[in-house]
Amino acid sequence: MRDPVAAYVALGANLGDAQPTVLRAIKAIGQTPGVSVLRASSLYRTAPVESSGPDYINAVVALDTTLTAPALLAALQALEQAAGRERPYVNAPRTLDLDLLLYGSARIGSPHLTVPHPRMDQRAFVLVPLAEIAPGLVTALQLERVGTQAVRRL
Ligand code: AMP
Repeated sequence: MRDPVAAYVALGANLGDAQPTVLRAIKAIGQTPGVSVLRASSLYRTAPVESSGPDYINAVVALDTTLTAPALLAALQALEQAAGRERPYVNAPRTLDLDLLLYGSARIGSPHLTVPHPRMDQRAFVLVPLAEIAPGLVTALQLERVGTQAVRRL
């Protein structure tokens, strides 16, 4: 049995019922074999960065996992797919974005997986919820650099 690794995952949704989508996804991540959710941040409402459309609902969760990083990514992608397939009514939009931010202290650069997530430093919607649940992982300077991006804790 592998030793569990501490990992952090960012969640985002901005179409349909984004808030229940994110809450369901947090639950589903915790129900994934080999994954325990240790902490979940508050939900945050954030303006789209580099895109338009409705505000996003974002959160970050801290995990313990015995899955390898590629297996964890595959599990997260399966949850994205499942959320995309939900159709409560005709043409109901649903999107869920799950990003693997950190996997222990691993640095991974494969064609399918880059860890730490290459854009996490540019995104207040990742750094602010991450700082809420893991203050030691985010510096004041990192938060200051994304300080102009609107992020509202719900
Ligand atoms: P997106 O859904 O736009 O965030 O992009 C998903 C793509 O990014 C997939 O093809 C993944 O293989 C790739 N990817 C690379 N690194 C990561 C990561 N750390 N977390 C999630 N997806 C990643």
